[in-house]
Amino acid sequence: MLKDKNVIVTGGAKGIGKAIATEFAKQGANIVLNYRSTSPEATKSEIESFGVKCLTIQADVSDFEQAKDLAEKANEELGSIDVLVNNAGITKDGLVLRMSEEDFDAVIQTNLKGTFNMIKHVSKIMFKQKSGNIINMSSVIGLAGNVGQLNYAASKAGVIGVTYSAAKEFAARNIRVNAIAPGMIDTDMTAVLSDKVKEGILSQIPLKRFGKPEEIAKTAVFLAENEYITGQVITVDGGMVIG
Ligand code: NDP
Repeated sequence: MLKDKNVIVTGGAKGIGKAIATEFAKQGANIVLNYRSTSPEATKSEIESFGVKCLTIQADVSDFEQAKDLAEKANEELGSIDVLVNNAGITKDGLVLRMSEEDFDAVIQTNLKGTFNMIKHVSKIMFKQKSGNIINMSSVIGLAGNVGQLNYAASKAGVIGVTYSAAKEFAARNIRVNAIAPGMIDTDMTAVLSDKVKEGILSQIPLKRFGKPEEIAKTAVFLAENEYITGQVITVDGGMVIG
């Protein structure tokens, strides 16, 4: 079903983005691997080993014009954009008392505005196609909040609002929009946490382990394949925020 479809994954060179790009490639989809500074070459080779195309495009998704170029280049090169995965994201953690205005703005600019930028430019292409699928990366922190992550929580809660609104706005054009809210996943983003912080987090996870990037990737493929799901936030967190 995903065979020969064209999928953009933002921030796809490593971590969850890499796992998502690889999982879509396994299903036979061509990949547009967006990256900012991490070299995409190793991931590109892995993706091509599944016999699909992999186009690498450098762009900072927080920049409106660079996001536009990314969307347009992908469409020109491959002829359509069937799935957009808004995965790129950053953290700049700190207690509010110490959080600078720059750290607040940078996280909102990448995680929330970057998601808007890509949706803005890719939806124009999907509208013409009269089909498409958008998957946004939120976080359990956007659902439950966290000490030291006010900026990140705001950005990821914003992504959920974006998902609900875009799902309603785009449904008539046969474009579905969903979000994934991962819990703690083993990537560079969580590798920076101290052992003490990790132990504290583990004690709040009923399944008693961090998730694997592949477990998020399988969820993204599921959302892309199930044509009757839109406007949903799927939590993949080992039970961390059972509400
Ligand atoms: P990583 O730090 O491993 O990867 C983040 C990726 O995003 C990198 O490829 C990075 O590129 C890219 N990126 C960051 N800013 C930009 C930008 N402005 N333009 C283009 N690409 C950018 O993190 P994860 O893989 O863990 O995170 C992926 C997503 O999942 C993020 O949205 C994150 O918030 C979310 N998430 C992660 C969780 C976790 O526990 N790991 C939990 C919940 C959500 P580069 O290296 O070149 O800067």
